[in-house]
Amino acid sequence: MSKYTEILEKHWGYPSFREKQEEIVEAVGSGKDVLGLLPTGGGKSITFQVPALATEGICLVVTPLIALMKDQVENLRQRGIKAMAVYSGMTRHEMKVAFDNAAYGNYKFLYLSPERLGTKYFQEQLGKLQVNLLAIDEAHCISQWGYDFRPSYLKIADIRSSLPNVPVLALTATATPKVVNDIMEKLAFREKLVFQKSFERKNLAYVVRQVDDKQKHLLKIIQSIPGTGVVYVRNRKATREVAQFLNEQGFSADFYHAGLSAAIRDRRQADWKEDRTRIIVSTNAFGMGIDKPDVRFVVHLDLPDSLEAYFQEAGRGGRDGEKAYAVLLYNKSDEKAMKMRFTKSFPPRDKIKEIYQLLSNYLQVALGEGKNQSYEFDFSDFIKKFKLDAMIAFHAIKFLEQEGYLSLSDDLNNPSRLIFLVERDDLYRFQVANIRYDTLIKLILRSYTGLFNDYIKIDESFLASKLGISRDELYEMLKYLTRLKIINYIPSNSSPLITYLKERLENSLLYLSKEHYDSRKKNYADKLQAALHYANNPYRCRSQMLLEYFGDESAKRCGQCDYCLRKTEHNLTQFEYDSLIESIHDHLSKSPQPLEKLVDSIDFIPNKSIQVIRYLIDEGQLRYRADNCLELTGKLFS
Ligand code: ADP
Repeated sequence: MSKYTEILEKHWGYPSFREKQEEIVEAVGSGKDVLGLLPTGGGKSITFQVPALATEGICLVVTPLIALMKDQVENLRQRGIKAMAVYSGMTRHEMKVAFDNAAYGNYKFLYLSPERLGTKYFQEQLGKLQVNLLAIDEAHCISQWGYDFRPSYLKIADIRSSLPNVPVLALTATATPKVVNDIMEKLAFREKLVFQKSFERKNLAYVVRQVDDKQKHLLKIIQSIPGTGVVYVRNRKATREVAQFLNEQGFSADFYHAGLSAAIRDRRQADWKEDRTRIIVSTNAFGMGIDKPDVRFVVHLDLPDSLEAYFQEAGRGGRDGEKAYAVLLYNKSDEKAMKMRFTKSFPPRDKIKEIYQLLSNYLQVALGEGKNQSYEFDFSDFIKKFKLDAMIAFHAIKFLEQEGYLSLSDDLNNPSRLIFLVERDDLYRFQVANIRYDTLIKLILRSYTGLFNDYIKIDESFLASKLGISRDELYEMLKYLTRLKIINYIPSNSSPLITYLKERLENSLLYLSKEHYDSRKKNYADKLQAALHYANNPYRCRSQMLLEYFGDESAKRCGQCDYCLRKTEHNLTQFEYDSLIESIHDHLSKSPQPLEKLVDSIDFIPNKSIQVIRYLIDEGQLRYRADNCLELTGKLFS
């Protein structure tokens, strides 16, 4: 048994690696730079966790989503592996404690959000760490050709130069060939090396339906496919409306979006995961990090802005390998809506500057101030206050993020936490001298461990009820102890944060590159175009279209998407169908012909030929000319 398999078994209890995991682990273990392309749920985490455990030192993991980061840290801790996370929203002192622990406490994993990397503080701390591997999750974020470019990822290249002999493992689930190359270049790979698991999902049937009444069609789907599902819609209001509609029709459904409180989201997610709710209607906020194997259908009522996003979301179906459906319901008004969104996604540069200044005023950041500071940010309040269009404001902020002026975190949901700042003896002396605080301190020490070395989560309601005091009173006591530097207490914070990466600038100094603006616009337009093409093109196997988009030109027809199924109705084998198409193409490309002549000249069962020709006419691949001869409208798709 290899040392890696031993680690896999010892810490996770898994007997063997999945496809491509072992190759990645071995390559990283031998010091190579690697890009791993595995689908969501394919087991990317194991590929850096195992080699890091096999080597002395600590593994740095860069990942943009704080919620996922926390999940992973928790998960490792439960396996007895020392791991911690550093992200925006942590105080200076929390970070200091974290880095000290990372350097001197035998920690194996340090998770970092990318905007932390650029800080001088981090650069200083880095020197203290013995880093064995640099793992980059969601690595497509480093490429502006990807669908989620984050400029703070570019800072990773700087860390690389401080860690010249440390291998890098970049991981992503979705990247086009152009992005794959870009990732390796931006991360300064010493040699290019990619391991990719095929994106083919054999048990997932992709279906596109052109329908006017989407809700009615949704009902049909839910009635005919038993089991759990996800319905994706574009906006928060629609999540509620569709869930309500399904409830009225007698189905168990609930809705989910990022605007709900963390407690509600957790509960709804758990209810769905544990099959108390059958259908969850959600915005794209749902699904990240969700690992439910038996999702039988994923229906999109709105077309996502990129095939990367569609593939990720649709791919949440059928993780258990059993048959599942990914259905896109589409009609012409979607295209109109998409074009409108496109315009709003690129507010003029002057508008972006205006929103930057409004934002800075709103957050009370003075000119020349704010660098590396984080501010809690209530987006709805912001747009209400300045009467801004939500889409425009959102995209202006995104643009400022992409230009490296600020970074916007996902929802933080940080619980209250505290640490003791004094040694046990000093604490004891304090307790004796301040009897009023003695009971509180004793209760904290009895209820939680590790408080002298690290920040520990506390539950104020629990402490207050044990002491028989109100939460406000408890809060005052904890604040008082913090002022005396006996403890440091940080109350929970849960709204997203904006971190300024540069000091606030006046308009004349705020530079928004026209070149970036134009190239991003083009990139976005290309992605929309690809998504529209997928929705609008009934002449190709859906799976082939998606796989080709991700660079797999040799993909086979899936035999189960709407296109393949329409063809199976002809009762022909794939080979027969393909031969027939080839022969129709050969004849008509020489010269247009009347139907009877065409059928006669094809060496095939006549009624089958007629059926397929009619089908091709219906699909618009063949058409009648004025003289009643059939002609090709373009290339025939097999
Ligand atoms: P990804 O990051 O690629 O979406 P994860 O790393 O979260 O996927 O892994 C998905 C699930 O698969 C996790 O529950 C993980 O423990 C499990 N898993 C990963 N590798 C293996 C393996 N070799 N054998 C069994 N289960 C595995």
